[in-house]
Amino acid sequence: MQGMMMNRPLRIADILTFAEDVHGSAEIVSATVEGGIHRYTYKDAALRSRKLAQALLRLGVTPGQRIATLGWNGYRHFELYYAISGIGAVCHTINPRLSVEQMSYIVSHAEDRILCLDLTFVPLVEAILDHLPKGLRFIIMTDRAHMPETKLPGALCYEDLVEPETGDYEWPEFPEETASSLCYTSGTTGHPKGALYTHRSTVMHALMAGVSFLECLRPGRRILPVVPLFHVNAWGLPYAAPLTGASIVFPGPQLDGASLFKLMDEQKVFSAWGVPTVWLGLLAEIRKHGRIPEGFGEVIIGGSAAPRSMIEAFEDLNVSVCHAWGMTEMSPIGTQGSLAPPLTDLPKEKQIDLKSTQGRRTFGVELKIVDANGQRQPHDGVATGELFVRGNTIVSGYFNNQEASEAAFDAEGWFRTGDVASISPDGFLTITDRAKDLIKSGGEWISSIDLENMAIAHPDVANCAVIAVPHPKWDERPLLIVVPAEGAKPDKEEILAHLAKGLAKWQVPDDVIFVDTLPLTATGKVSKLTLRQIYADHSLPEAG
Ligand code: AMP
Repeated sequence: MQGMMMNRPLRIADILTFAEDVHGSAEIVSATVEGGIHRYTYKDAALRSRKLAQALLRLGVTPGQRIATLGWNGYRHFELYYAISGIGAVCHTINPRLSVEQMSYIVSHAEDRILCLDLTFVPLVEAILDHLPKGLRFIIMTDRAHMPETKLPGALCYEDLVEPETGDYEWPEFPEETASSLCYTSGTTGHPKGALYTHRSTVMHALMAGVSFLECLRPGRRILPVVPLFHVNAWGLPYAAPLTGASIVFPGPQLDGASLFKLMDEQKVFSAWGVPTVWLGLLAEIRKHGRIPEGFGEVIIGGSAAPRSMIEAFEDLNVSVCHAWGMTEMSPIGTQGSLAPPLTDLPKEKQIDLKSTQGRRTFGVELKIVDANGQRQPHDGVATGELFVRGNTIVSGYFNNQEASEAAFDAEGWFRTGDVASISPDGFLTITDRAKDLIKSGGEWISSIDLENMAIAHPDVANCAVIAVPHPKWDERPLLIVVPAEGAKPDKEEILAHLAKGLAKWQVPDDVIFVDTLPLTATGKVSKLTLRQIYADHSLPEAG
């Protein structure tokens, strides 16, 4: 028998309208690209998002069109999130750290109509203009006074567009499965792949986050997302914070320890969210000051494994650590490790043990680990296996990419994460390894296979492998291991220069090691596992 309840579509814009009605005075504080602090309320943000929606419609944006953003964490980027998806278009956030090839590929693949960019990125986009599709329009996210001289054809000024609109606008209705936003993630090889979120998945993710991060997602709290709006929706915070009434402090482009400390101190940030690399800078600054920023009580660490020493350092300062795991394909939060009674009664050391795991699943995310034959492994904290996930906030395929979509799921329809993990009887997930051939440096991906393909193209290289080695600042850095071609005497600098031609600077390996042979697996593949074990303590030149 069917129930008899209304079925109203879940819409992203309703989150902001709710915040306007119920948490209207909660704030968004932004360190701006132009300099200085901008502050306004959710009520103001809701009005300006409606004005921006009117402006986009006036520019001719129609439902389903992709509108790209290239911006730091700030209030205009937040408005774009709501205005673009609110009118039924798709907000495509672009990671400015991508290489020119990757960036031009995803703009073309997404068929972006408009690119909205922060002032900082004007030179970058000007430099790659020839690689971008003709007809792409540009909106510079600034006011008239700061509009630069630019080669970007017909560049429009954001504030000029918003200012004349009335804000007298009703968000349109459409099915909740309508695409809302698009975020590309690196594949192990080939081109980046697009996760295409829906209004439904986004609202559900915000609700799930709201019941998971209870210490910070509530009225009166101030949260600093250092995790970028251009990468995995800033972990869903731009939706979860207005929904729960928490205020947001956006850090803008300055993400070094000193800038973060100052901003957090001045704005009384309670909870800060980001990858481990960022927190090293903040911890160094805290040591310099001999104190934590005023009001600081919690740090959410994810994107890469949080080192135990980092967890201990924060906990010793009375800053509670919550270690979270997720993926772009999961909107992104999958598990989180905040402890509730009775676990908070455990001795500190035991609590740190639990906090060092990747935590427990959030509502709506199912986890399973399987062996090489796809057989489920027990959740006994000992057995490890490849981790698969299922749920309403997880992709069902990749945008316009059938090949990648087909490879991403098992026969039961679970999504392959590429992580290897164990799960304890009480549900704590521990990531033990990575099955996918990727390196995560400072929260950003580098494809080992892409690097290997480039290295092997060098005449002095007979065979090679690229592995991740632990790095104190960037979590992982690529190390290239080369078997020289017969009779060749390859030069390290020359090989690195060869790779640098096709890569962003931060993607170039830190070191090259020359060996006679590479270890092989039983099936004759290069054993990355063995290489990672051999070179686990390899000291990279930069790391000293
Ligand atoms: P992304 O899609 O860029 O967010 O990357 C997702 C991947 O980052 C996961 O599949 C993991 O390999 C890695 N990752 C994310 N969070 C963690 C974590 N807390 N510990 C270990 N690895 C993580």
